[in-house]
Amino acid sequence: MSVAKILEIAARVGRVTRRYPYQPPLLTPEFRGSIRVDPSRCWGCGACVRICPPNALTLKPSGKMVALEYFVGRCIFCGMCAEVCPAGAIEVTKEFELSATSIEDLRTRLVHRLTRCSVCGAPTWTEAELRAVVKASPITEEYAAICPEHRRERFAKAVALRLGAGE
Ligand code: SF4
Ligand code: SF4
Repeated sequence: MSVAKILEIAARVGRVTRRYPYQPPLLTPEFRGSIRVDPSRCWGCGACVRICPPNALTLKPSGKMVALEYFVGRCIFCGMCAEVCPAGAIEVTKEFELSATSIEDLRTRLVHRLTRCSVCGAPTWTEAELRAVVKASPITEEYAAICPEHRRERFAKAVALRLGAGE
């Protein structure tokens, strides 16, 4: 195509780009920006942490607590965390103007209290996760609150007792 033809088309069509930041940018319905975690819905299960490709989401245990940390400086805005979250706690926003003067301002934390195995004291679930598991399954809170190893042991003993009783 000749330069004259290109100039003719440009003159006919006019400006096609936005004068951002003087005009609002054009955000399509598919546009993905930073994420927002709803503290009232999050269980602290860590599914989003495991799927996040650049480790923008991390779970940091500290004593009786565990913090879900989101570092937007690493986020690639893929939205995979929102897809796997079983609690529907993650919203993919359209926010993209994310600069900050301090790196700490790029981190958000959501702190959960941990429960401990009633047999060995090992950390098991977060309190919110334990409540969600008990609500969604037929097992009791007492049974769910035990760590997987001791839960297996207790289950095996119960089966052995039942088999013994049946003989
Ligand atoms: S409930 Fe959702 S947001 Fe919270 S840790 Fe699990 S996957 Fe992440
Ligand atoms: S949008 Fe993608 S990169 Fe960002 S926190 Fe979620 S999974 Fe990680």
